[in-house]
Amino acid sequence: MYNIGNILELAAAKYPRRQALVYRPKSQFWTYDQWDGHVNRLANALLKLGINKGDTISTYLGNCSELVSVLFAAAKIGAVFNPINCNLSSGELSFILNDAQAKLLVFGSTGNKRVTGSLARIKTVQHYLYVDGSPPGFARSYYQLCASQSAIKPVVEVSENDWFSIIYTSGTTGKPKGVIHKHRDIVDHSMCMIQSQKLSYQDRGLSVDPLYHAAELHCFFLPRVHVGAASIIADSSDPKLILQLLEEEKITFMFADPAICRLIIQNAPEGCCLPSLRLLANGGAPMPHALAAKCREIFKTDILHLYGMTEMGPAITVLYPEELEAKAGSVGKPLINHQIRVVRLNAVYPSDPDDILAPGEKGEVVVQGVGMMQGYYNRPELTAEAMYGGWYHTGDIGCFDSEGYLWLSGRRDDVIFSGVENVYPEEIEEVLLDHPDVVETAVVGVEKREWETEIVAFIVSRNKLLAAAEVNSFLKESEKLADFKIPGEYRLVDKLPRVTTGKIQRRQLIKKIKK
Ligand code: ATP
Ligand code: MG
Repeated sequence: MYNIGNILELAAAKYPRRQALVYRPKSQFWTYDQWDGHVNRLANALLKLGINKGDTISTYLGNCSELVSVLFAAAKIGAVFNPINCNLSSGELSFILNDAQAKLLVFGSTGNKRVTGSLARIKTVQHYLYVDGSPPGFARSYYQLCASQSAIKPVVEVSENDWFSIIYTSGTTGKPKGVIHKHRDIVDHSMCMIQSQKLSYQDRGLSVDPLYHAAELHCFFLPRVHVGAASIIADSSDPKLILQLLEEEKITFMFADPAICRLIIQNAPEGCCLPSLRLLANGGAPMPHALAAKCREIFKTDILHLYGMTEMGPAITVLYPEELEAKAGSVGKPLINHQIRVVRLNAVYPSDPDDILAPGEKGEVVVQGVGMMQGYYNRPELTAEAMYGGWYHTGDIGCFDSEGYLWLSGRRDDVIFSGVENVYPEEIEEVLLDHPDVVETAVVGVEKREWETEIVAFIVSRNKLLAAAEVNSFLKESEKLADFKIPGEYRLVDKLPRVTTGKIQRRQLIKKIKK
């Protein structure tokens, strides 16, 4: 019987003197033994405050050692860990705290203003812990609280079937949903990650992507603790800091989303040399092949691509470095202990998980695997729909090729039911991006009358005078799109609305037109 707390305890027992955590901005360097002792102090402090098994503990922190210490302390006392994106607004923060019924909130100077501003709206939080300097009046100091506690592990029975975490989805397609995982889901998911990254205790990983997202936390950070490897935490995505840490800390492995990849490439010095770096992982959002190839060329390292979603732990497929060239643009094959199907997408949802399509046919991606969520917190109807027939319905559209590689082509919520046939906005966007003046674009469908949907293309252009008629003829002359896929309207905008992970919020664009 394993729980997440055991992962740290076992690492501390096996490798007490090995470096576990490096957090340079605050000059923290912890061996596994020291870190486990700190986590036990925190766990004892939480129990004294009256936080019990089953209570929810939220963090509203950027990347820092305290975030991951709270994770393990919560796990050791059977409390449910709820990391909240520290870039969310005060309204979004109070929505999640109330929805998750949080009893304790850990925050710091970056979130202080927004937490203070939301106090009147936060309903269930009884204790506030502050990790930086002197706390505001309503909070207590995290470090003072830990100082007087015992470093001996508290005695609380935590089973692999107890809830480990509630992590909210990005909210790309609506309000974020609280995804519940039990300990076992994430322990098993971690094993898949160790295998796909060929991770060993000799690795030194850099956590740059946010630790409040399942991607960095469960795919990279936890597996490193599992094998007794070192984690270096970067508290900002400043490309100069990242490049410095990669070199000085002899990083062997890092995960970076497309936005961070772009930044570090632009700032990499001529003849950049990072002999320790063996693997650069990316995923969590579409990654243009040219960008992946550029990363490989500049850093002379292997590229690993992952696809997944919070609900699945999150990773479900992997494209290995040696497959990147031949299968550029594919998200790879299912991870071990995962099964994926592409099933027919009907107007009536949810899709039937047994209506399996042949290779080459586009449909909804459904999946079963070890990291599958227990459900959405307090959302039984949404849970039943998402997990219909025992398969998690990803809402992503894709197809398998004849060799079993999965290719994604968009999200179900974005598919435009034009009245003639389903239109995938990404297909139109791809052609639009070939126009020399188009920097970014997003295509949406807007219902004009019943059964009549108009396709509208939003464009960020280099040329502020770009005419709709010109773009229209460009698309027609490309001969890449059937007539029913040619937009009826073009709108120039300064930028596209995005969630903090960079994904486009098409709903906001649709609202703009309907106004
Ligand atoms: P919400 O569910 O609240 O609308 P979200 O689905 O964006 O938000 P996440 O769980 O953070 O929240 O993201 C999962 C989604 O991200 C996937 O369903 C998929 O659409 C997209 N995604 C993840 N990895 C990749 C990838 N490698 N390539 C393309 N898209 C990806
Ligand atoms: Mg989602």
